[in-house]
Amino acid sequence: MLATRLRNPLRSTLSKSANPLGRTYASASSGGGSNLPLILGAAGLLGLGGYVYLQRNPEIFGKIDALKQDVKAKAEGLEAERKASSSENSLAALIKDSWVPFKLTRVEPYNHNTKIYTFDIGENKVAGGEVAYVVLVKPDGDEPKDDKGNPVIRPYTAISSSEDKGIIKLLIKEYKTGKLTPYIASLTPGQNLQFKGPIQKFKYEPNSIDRGLCIAGGSGITPMWQLITHSLKLPEDKTKWTLVFCNVEEKDILLRKEWDQLAKSHPDRLEVKYVLDKSPWGWKGETGFVTPSMISKLFPKGDDKVKVYVCGPPGQVKAVAGPKDGMKQGEVTGALKELGYTSEEVFKY
Ligand SMILES: Cc1cc2nc3c(=O)[nH]c(=O)nc-3n(C[C@H](O)[C@H](O)[C@H](O)COP(=O)(O)OP(=O)(O)OC[C@H]3O[C@@H](n4cnc5c(N)ncnc54)[C@H](O)[C@@H]3O)c2cc1C
Repeated sequence: MLATRLRNPLRSTLSKSANPLGRTYASASSGGGSNLPLILGAAGLLGLGGYVYLQRNPEIFGKIDALKQDVKAKAEGLEAERKASSSENSLAALIKDSWVPFKLTRVEPYNHNTKIYTFDIGENKVAGGEVAYVVLVKPDGDEPKDDKGNPVIRPYTAISSSEDKGIIKLLIKEYKTGKLTPYIASLTPGQNLQFKGPIQKFKYEPNSIDRGLCIAGGSGITPMWQLITHSLKLPEDKTKWTLVFCNVEEKDILLRKEWDQLAKSHPDRLEVKYVLDKSPWGWKGETGFVTPSMISKLFPKGDDKVKVYVCGPPGQVKAVAGPKDGMKQGEVTGALKELGYTSEEVFKY
C-alpha cells in the first residue's frame, strides 16, 4: 500500500483533493470563535467527569498503556516499511509491471549488423534482476506495431550487469525485415526506448548441475553471456560450461574476443566451440547445422547432472530441442530428444 503510494504521489494527491468535504469542514470550524467560552466550559466538565471515572476504574490505565504500545509498534512498522520501500525505489530503475522510458546516451557499432546501445537509467540506479532474466523493450510511441496493431514488444538480455549503476547496455542485432530492430537501429542518442522488467526466466542455483551446455545462435548469445559470466563470478560455483555458438559466417560471431578471453582465464570451467554455416578455408571449428552427432562430440553425455540451455532463431531451437509452446517450454524433440535428454535437462529461452 505504502509502496504504491510512494510510487504514485500523483494518485495520492488526486485522492486527497477529490474529497470535497475536507474544504467544507475547515471553513465551518473557522467560523466557531464566538462559542469558545461555552466549548471550554463543556470540555472542562467532560475532563472532570473523565478524571472521576478513571479514579474509579484504574484498570483503564493498563489498557491505555497497551494501546500506546500497540500504536508505537505500528508506527515503527510503518516507518521500517517506508524506509525499505524508499531504498528499493532509489535503487531499482526497472519496474516489473509498468513501462519506463530510458534515454539512449550512446550507440557503438559492433559489427556489420549489430550495435551496442547504452541507456541512462538514472544516477545511482541499477537495472536489478536475478539471473536468468530478460527486459522487455517497446518503442517510445505507437509505431512500429505488431500483427495485432499494438506497439511491438521484444525481449532482450542486457550485457551490462544488473548491479551496474546508472546504465543498461543492450547488444542488438538488426534484422532488416524484422519489426522492432530496424526501429532500434534508427535511434540516435537523446531518444527514448520503453523498458519493463526484469522478467525472471529461472533462478540460477550454483552447483545445481555438474555441467551446463549452452547452444546459441546469433543474437541468442546474450542470455548465455549473462548465465555463464554470472556462474564464473560465483566463488562457490564449480559448474563446468560448454558453449556451442552457431553463426552464418565468422564476421557474425558476437562477443568473440570476450568469450575467448573468458575461456582462457577459466580453462577448467569453460570451453567455447564455434560453429559456422559457411566456414572459411582453414577453419578449426565445426561447420554445418547442429546435429546429434555434433552435440555428442562437443558435449559427451556421462552419468553426471547436466542441463542444456538453448537460445537462437526459432528454426534452430526447433531442430535442436523442439519448438517452444508460446511462453511454455513445449516438449523436447529434435537432436536433444534423439540423444535422450529429458525435459528436466533442457531449457529453451
Ligand atoms: C530470451 C531472449 C533474449 C534475447 N536477447 C537478445 C539480445 O540481447 N539481443 C538481440 O539482438 N536479440 C535478442 N533476442 C531476440 C529479440 O527478442 C528479437 O527476436 C530480435 O531482436 C528480432 O526482433 P525483430 O522484431 O526486429 O524481428 P522479427 O520481426 O521478430 O523477425 C526476426 C527475423 O525473423 C523473420 N521472421 C519473422 N517472422 C517470420 C516467420 N513467420 N517466418 C519466417 N521468418 C520470419 C524476419 O523476417 C526477421 O528476419 C532475444 C530473444 C530471447 C527469446
